[in-house]
Amino acid sequence: MKVQLADLKDKALVLTAEEPVADYPDLVSMVDAADCLFLAPLRISFTVAREYDHIRAAGRVETTVRLNCSRCLAEYDAEIDSSFTVFYTKASGSPLDEEVELAEEDLISKSYSGEEIDFAPEVSEQVIMEIPFKPLCKEDCLGLCNKCGVNLNDTACDCDRSAGGFKFGALKGIKIEK
Ligand SMILES: [Zn+2]
Ligand SMILES: [Zn+2]
Repeated sequence: MKVQLADLKDKALVLTAEEPVADYPDLVSMVDAADCLFLAPLRISFTVAREYDHIRAAGRVETTVRLNCSRCLAEYDAEIDSSFTVFYTKASGSPLDEEVELAEEDLISKSYSGEEIDFAPEVSEQVIMEIPFKPLCKEDCLGLCNKCGVNLNDTACDCDRSAGGFKFGALKGIKIEK
C-alpha cells in the first residue's frame, strides 16, 4: 500500500485495502521456510496525515495464519491483528536524522524521499513480529509424551515420565553466584 504525497492535503487520508501475501516477499519467505501459512489476504488500513515536519501514519494489519505448535506439533490457526504508528520524516541525506529518538516505544520512525511513501516494509515487519518464534496452540499445551509420543492434550498414557530425560535433582547442587 502506497500514499502519493500530492494527495495528502490538510485532511487526514484513510486508505484501506486487501492485499495478497504474494505481494510481500518477506512474508512469502516465511511460508517458504514453513514458519507459517497465510489463510487470508492482508487486510490493511492506514490513516495518514501531515503533522508539523513529518507525516504520521496510523496503520492496522489483520490476517489469519496457520502455525504448528512447538510442543505438540499440532496445527492451529491464529488471528493476527496489529496496530502501529509510523512517523515519516523527509530524508535529508544526513544519516544522523534517521535516528530520531521517540519517547513512546511503540512509535516507529522512518524517513522517506520522493513523492510517495510505500507502507509495505512496515506491514511486513509488523506481521512478522506478531508470528511467535515458538508457537503454542494454547498456553498450557501439554506437548507430546517423551516415551510413547501421544499428544497429551488429547490422550492420557501410562508412561512413567518422571524418570525421563531431565534430571531436576541434578540442579539442586547448583548455587547461583551473584
Ligand atoms: Zn500444542
Ligand atoms: Zn506415553
